[in-house]
Amino acid sequence: MKALPDERALMRLYSLSKARFGFLDWWPGDTKFEVIVGAILTQQTSWSNVAKAIKALKKAKKLDFSSICSIKTEELERLIRPSGYYRQKAARLKGLCLYIKGAHSTLDSFLSQDKGTLRAELLSVNGVGKETADSILLYAAGKPIFVIDAYTKRIMSRVFGMPESIAYDDLQDLFQTRLKKSVRLYNDMHAQFVEIGKGYCKKTSPLCSGCPIKGICAYANAHRIDGKVQGKMQSHLKYRMRAIPITNPLS
Ligand code: SF4
Repeated sequence: MKALPDERALMRLYSLSKARFGFLDWWPGDTKFEVIVGAILTQQTSWSNVAKAIKALKKAKKLDFSSICSIKTEELERLIRPSGYYRQKAARLKGLCLYIKGAHSTLDSFLSQDKGTLRAELLSVNGVGKETADSILLYAAGKPIFVIDAYTKRIMSRVFGMPESIAYDDLQDLFQTRLKKSVRLYNDMHAQFVEIGKGYCKKTSPLCSGCPIKGICAYANAHRIDGKVQGKMQSHLKYRMRAIPITNPLS
């Protein structure tokens, strides 16, 4: 069983990625409310589709808290249609806004609560799961909480040989117990995982040769033949059988 990555290993991964992409200055949104809208709309879709929906909301002058509280559901569905699952997402977005209005009156008062209370309230709203709640906590409310997504799980699995099926809370704990509590670090580190995941660490055929963290990646090292990284990914089971005996390049 490989040792779990320590702070040094996590920061090495971050530094290599940041050296390539720079500080990414997330979240892509001009206001706290836009972050919340983006966090709901990005469920089960790519950001390019979310951007189209946000553009439509902006054009219709509906991208603000009071407008979404009062907008007709059919109009909201029409505007956010490009983001997919638009009926479900319209209900979730409007439901969250009406909850905030009923319980706190204003968005600022809702977001200014302590981290634990705010997270519990977000998770109590229909359609808000841990990733969405934590994205809102970190990027809209500025609370130090590490966001876990599918890219983070995949990259941590391939780089450090951790199970990709690791529970959300366990992986979040790993980051939060090893890294200093910093909104800026959590903000940018999550953004770096997304950048690597989108551009290189594809689900079936990772593009290791151009990946900024290939030098510390167990998967890339296990698939290296004559200095070249194989393009096609073998089955995850094969990878794990081959990857476990190798030396962690970070140790
Ligand atoms: S080197 Fe390859 S497997 Fe490792 S994180 Fe990068 S793309 Fe993924």
